[in-house]
Amino acid sequence: MTRVKGDMSKRDVSVIGLGPMGRAMAGAFLDKGYRVTVWNRTPGRADELVAAGADLAATVPDALAASELAVLSLTDHRAMYDVLEPAGHALPGRVLVNLGSDTPDSARAAARWAAGHGARYLTGGVQASPPGIGQPGSTTFYSGPRDVFDAHRETLEVLTGTDYRGEDPGLAALYYQIGMDLFWTTVLGWLHALALADAHGVRAEDVLPSASSVLAGMPDFMAFYTGRIDAGEYPGDIDRLTMGVASAEHVLRTARDAGVDDALPAAVVDIFRRGVAAGHGDESATSLVEVLKRTTA
Ligand code: NDP
Repeated sequence: MTRVKGDMSKRDVSVIGLGPMGRAMAGAFLDKGYRVTVWNRTPGRADELVAAGADLAATVPDALAASELAVLSLTDHRAMYDVLEPAGHALPGRVLVNLGSDTPDSARAAARWAAGHGARYLTGGVQASPPGIGQPGSTTFYSGPRDVFDAHRETLEVLTGTDYRGEDPGLAALYYQIGMDLFWTTVLGWLHALALADAHGVRAEDVLPSASSVLAGMPDFMAFYTGRIDAGEYPGDIDRLTMGVASAEHVLRTARDAGVDDALPAAVVDIFRRGVAAGHGDESATSLVEVLKRTTA
């Protein structure tokens, strides 16, 4: 379907990038009665959406011309430049909402790049898997110009709930990467624990209750220490880092005794020992945040 130039409404949206996430997003907009234009490098991925009522744009400029709002669901920002750089002439007046993952610095650079092409730019960090799109209970971090977010909030809330973090376009990416930092280290910790269990003939199923209990205690643990960390205080009244070193070494030795990969517990012991070397031995293990901060300072 060819759009008449200028014939756009708030219920028009273009979705660029049709991986599992982009397809779920375009489907959610269609379900809510939006006029959806899609574009993908591999056009065949649009087949089901077209059958459901989406318009397949032949080119990226066509996709940009069809709607004021373009939702980008691409692997990373490199893919965004690959897709949009040749279509720069179609960007003035457009609102780009980039829901692909990348770093905060890269998000800031992308916002500057978009502004240089006359487009306005929001960063998003989606905290849902494709089946969660359009369903209650999931949220996306957004950041960038408040007026742009407010103007398109209703449309964006078709996808997930929204959590606006501020004007800095890097903030949504930052909150997203903080979540992924926690997620991947937790997943890896769990998988290492399962490898340790397996070496002793213990199955993942047997570990599930105790592993769940450890993680269920984390919100209280974090809530107790958060105020102290923000105040820069690490008293050793509850735990001391020297105790933490001994504990981390027990984990390392348990792994080595079992012949299990020791890279992860060795890295943990290394960080704990650096904390002691930096003079935090009598403080709480949470003082390691100072060691971690200094690594990149
Ligand atoms: P995929 O990597 O599977 O697909 C992304 C899209 O990017 C595809 O349409 C692909 O095109 C396109 N693409 C990649 N590189 C290029 C390029 N150089 N030029 C043109 N197009 C390109 O990702 P998902 O759909 O799973 O996710 C999209 C984004 O959402 C990612 O940033 C991901 O981190 C984020 N996300 C994903 C979640 C998930 O569970 N899937 C959860 C939360 C966030 P083609 O089809 O032609 O290959």
